[in-house]
Amino acid sequence: MLRPADIKQSIDLVSIISESVQLKRSGKRLMGLCPFHSEKHPSFCVDPEKQLFYCHGCGAGGDVFNFVMKLHNYSFHEALTFLAEKAGIREIEDERLKFLKQVQTLFRKTLLLSQKAKIYLTKRKITPEKAEHFGMGLAPKNLLQILKEKNQLLQAQMSGFKNENFIRLLQGRLTLPFYDRCGNLVGFAARTLNNQVPKYINTEETEFFKKKNLLFGFNFLKQREKVYIVEGYFDCISCLINGIPSVAVGSTSLTTHQAKLLKGFDRVVVAFDGDHAGKKATMRAFKILVAADIYPHAIFLPEGEDPDSLLRKGKKEQFLRLHEKDLFKLIINTIEKLPPQKAITKLNNLAGFLANIHSPLSKLLLQQIRKTFSIKIEKQARKHLETEEQILQILLSSPELVENLEKRQLFEAMENSEIRKTLKYFAKHKTLPEGHTHMNLLARASIYPAQKNLIERAIRYLERKKVCREIVCPSEKS
Ligand SMILES: [Zn+2]
Repeated sequence: MLRPADIKQSIDLVSIISESVQLKRSGKRLMGLCPFHSEKHPSFCVDPEKQLFYCHGCGAGGDVFNFVMKLHNYSFHEALTFLAEKAGIREIEDERLKFLKQVQTLFRKTLLLSQKAKIYLTKRKITPEKAEHFGMGLAPKNLLQILKEKNQLLQAQMSGFKNENFIRLLQGRLTLPFYDRCGNLVGFAARTLNNQVPKYINTEETEFFKKKNLLFGFNFLKQREKVYIVEGYFDCISCLINGIPSVAVGSTSLTTHQAKLLKGFDRVVVAFDGDHAGKKATMRAFKILVAADIYPHAIFLPEGEDPDSLLRKGKKEQFLRLHEKDLFKLIINTIEKLPPQKAITKLNNLAGFLANIHSPLSKLLLQQIRKTFSIKIEKQARKHLETEEQILQILLSSPELVENLEKRQLFEAMENSEIRKTLKYFAKHKTLPEGHTHMNLLARASIYPAQKNLIERAIRYLERKKVCREIVCPSEKS
């Protein structure tokens, strides 16, 4: 049995923290930038003697277990396994995990004997060796009876085999094992071979098996270079068989915890199905990945294909040649093509989302939005509208319009405060006071009213400029 005290004794908090935080000595203590909140001056403090840490900025603190749990989003159990591995102490001893291993052996044996399963796997282009490698099995048709005879029903239930009904549903299904980060078997997904509904079932969540914290296939990855995130278990298996590093989310929505697992990878590429749902899920994954401080890329599969279908057709080269798109740039390009009002809403949402994350990546992306749109707006301004005075002149030709723009608070976008004041006055009084500085422009606008396209340009300019200013504001708060 792994004891936390043993692990604490053989592990140094400073060396664990130093893996992710640069610490500098300050008297008896060590200081660094807190990994749990964004800061410019170190308020994160480590006491090597007491083996405790504390952050004066956000109040995070505790021992080595608290640190690892918070940093990697681990459960206590996962932190224990993680640190045991670091300390060179292996294997967790838990009756439930032992039981799962035992059941898996039974499932594997059953698979070897089943002609039906063999035919199914051949169709999927999975050889018996590969099935063995991925720990696949087949739940025997008399599983419930076996468990009863062995007097293991209670143990089965405690290990995630909910109840007798669940076990009956499991019988005759192909089983796929879930491993945690340390390679412990923690649960099963099971697929029907008979078009039974539901197609997939999972063993119940336990202290070890939390599906939203695990990525199927993660334990098979040897390197930390590139990784594809795919939807289905068989997409993942097909990829791995073809030497393509991948993990499966097991549905279309990636979770924050799953994303955090991929933090150490050089490049993360979303490769969801080539249908509408897949595309939507890709956009959702963008947010989840950015929030986990991971720069997201994506490939878009041909309509109706998924990684498994493509690879089974022997189209590995085509899969690998699919252009990896920078998801952020893709989103920005899409927004730019929208009608102004829609673009503004989208851009505001995106900027608001990024401003709320406070990660180095979100700051960078926010800056990029500002840069891209400021340059665009300036270019546009230079091209069509030399100065804000010109805009003023255009707007003065339509009092109703000015009143409307005032209601939409679009004048806030103007740099020049004199012009802002003029427009506000004009919105209210539909004219300017005698001898006003801008009377010449009003005169010109009355005699030569601006053309419709110029008015539209002026409005677009204001709308975009307003967005730009709003984007600037939230990030300046942090
Ligand atoms: Zn902090």
